[in-house]
Amino acid sequence: MRKGSMWFKRVNGTFVLDAPAPPAVREKTRREQARAVLTDAARTQIKLKAEEICTYCRRQGTFWEDADGEPWHMDHVIPLERGGSIGLDNVALSCRACNMDKGNQTPSEWRPGV
Ligand SMILES: [Zn+2]
Repeated sequence: MRKGSMWFKRVNGTFVLDAPAPPAVREKTRREQARAVLTDAARTQIKLKAEEICTYCRRQGTFWEDADGEPWHMDHVIPLERGGSIGLDNVALSCRACNMDKGNQTPSEWRPGV
């Protein structure tokens, strides 16, 4: 039985939520959660803690920009798609180039500049 966007099944005469949300919906929700965790204050904290140096290539940027003059990226060390945490302990300061190159690989799969 379908009601709105949710599926129900009948158990002992009452309807209970049946199937879990489709993977695409859950992924979006997790991404939204991860974005919500990265407040301006959290981003500032991460930049200062990393001393404005890219975690991966160790190039020095400024508070506002990476070494290439691009806005800093906040990289999920273990990508969300790979089961990584949305918590700040899974977030590393990364220059745009490193983050784009790393994609959704884990650190053990990816080596900067290789
Ligand atoms: Zn880098």
